[in-house]
Amino acid sequence: MKTFATIPKPETSRPRECILCGSERFAPLWNLEAFAFSRCSRCGLIQQNPQPDVEDVLARYGESYLDYEVENHEAYARLERMALADLGFAEIEGRLMGRRENGHPSPRFLDVGCATGALMAGLVADGWSCVGVEPCEPAARYGREVFGLDIRSTVLEKADLPTRSFDIVHASHLIEHLNEPARFLDVAETLIAGDGYMILTTPNAEGFQARFLGAKWRSAIYDHLYLFSKADLTQLLRKHGFEVLRSITWGGWAAGLKPRAAKKPLDKLAKSLGWGDVMALLCRLRP
Ligand SMILES: [Zn+2]
Repeated sequence: MKTFATIPKPETSRPRECILCGSERFAPLWNLEAFAFSRCSRCGLIQQNPQPDVEDVLARYGESYLDYEVENHEAYARLERMALADLGFAEIEGRLMGRRENGHPSPRFLDVGCATGALMAGLVADGWSCVGVEPCEPAARYGREVFGLDIRSTVLEKADLPTRSFDIVHASHLIEHLNEPARFLDVAETLIAGDGYMILTTPNAEGFQARFLGAKWRSAIYDHLYLFSKADLTQLLRKHGFEVLRSITWGGWAAGLKPRAAKKPLDKLAKSLGWGDVMALLCRLRP
């Protein structure tokens, strides 16, 4: 499965402070000619710096993104369900659904960057009440028309959702695309019910593939503005009101990469060491 990536265009780009420590000093890390990743000299967070403006980033998601999603959304929804299962979703779901016997409404799930909403389509069938947020209008429209979902075509900051109203806020492969991940976390923090959860999935900058492939890593693309290690992301989450309850990683070596024989043992080793290519974190609000 290929990651959706756009081709670098001349966009306005501006230097930014590090979102984790405020430093303005960066050391070059991976130069991909049309764009580059650098590492914060103080805290080590990997980021594109300078970065394109938010409007330019959002403009990349049009009809071609919908085509890509429709081709892959079933496979992605299956992967997302596997990650949820590994994070203990069944236990959380059982508890929340159990409340309905006491007259409680259906548990509420918010999927931020939901694309066509394929994950939510399955959750609605399981009894969840779902809302999606997706700035790509063609993808959001597809989810409304084909799956009958409530999907707002905007970004989370502008979605105007009621505070403390969601049992789960979910964002899969979203945070690495945002110019302002901290702002996203601040808004998400206000939307989660007091005993609710947030689940984030993002590439793991300390996985085998990132370590050994460097600039050739499949996540070192133009559309990823930040690439987090688990420690970086945990620190950012703590700064913005969250604590991490559980984390998993998966994927040691991408299918098709040589040596092929390395895939099975590396997948197993990566999972046990936390060096998988992608990580998922289950978080709750800090007490
Ligand atoms: Zn920093």
